[in-house]
Amino acid sequence: MTVCAATNNPGKLRELRRILERMGCQVKSLRELGVELDPEETGTTFAENARIKAEAFCKATGLPTVADDSGLCVDALGGAPGVYSARYAGVHGDDEANNRKLLAEMKEVPAGQRAARFVSAVCLILPDGRTLTVEGECPGRVDTRCRGDNGFGYDPLFIPDRVGTSTGTAPNTDGRSYAQLADAEKDAISHRGRAMEALEARLGDFLAGN
Ligand code: IMP
Repeated sequence: MTVCAATNNPGKLRELRRILERMGCQVKSLRELGVELDPEETGTTFAENARIKAEAFCKATGLPTVADDSGLCVDALGGAPGVYSARYAGVHGDDEANNRKLLAEMKEVPAGQRAARFVSAVCLILPDGRTLTVEGECPGRVDTRCRGDNGFGYDPLFIPDRVGTSTGTAPNTDGRSYAQLADAEKDAISHRGRAMEALEARLGDFLAGN
């Protein structure tokens, strides 16, 4: 199946592309399809926003479309930045400013109280209007400084509880950040990887109309 990976975020596109290709899909980016669109994310949940984006881009491309809406939910901040993760510091997609703000907000939070989780809602829409929405989560904690330069967004500040291994997953005993993980180490435990796993598990039935 050829699918449109509906995101303007280059970091997300890289991850969606490699996961979808591993699932056997052919992936077209918005750039490859010549689509320039920035739908307003007016939802209050990850699932609502994923659907808004998938619908808009499916209409524009005529292709089965996969969109992800995701973010970091920090316990000590009452779940913030949550669905506002991309624009936490005010400017959409300013990763450095978002990380600075998160560090400042968490400055006084002691080590045992820095729990957080990444959440991803992924929505697949077919041109006939059928939709499948799934979610994935990755528990972890917020570091006190940025580490690593792989990845994007809050990756340098997020320490997942587990990491991927060649045989499955293992506790993240070295306390490495998302940005210090190899692609496969992140995909096996990440919120987006988990959501895509759920999508893959349900795809056959969904396409068969069950
Ligand atoms: P969205 O485009 O509204 O879904 O924005 C998601 C935002 O959440 C991104 O801009 C990042 O700040 C953050 N985010 C989502 N997934 C990840 C990830 O895997 N690593 C780091 N940051 C992420």
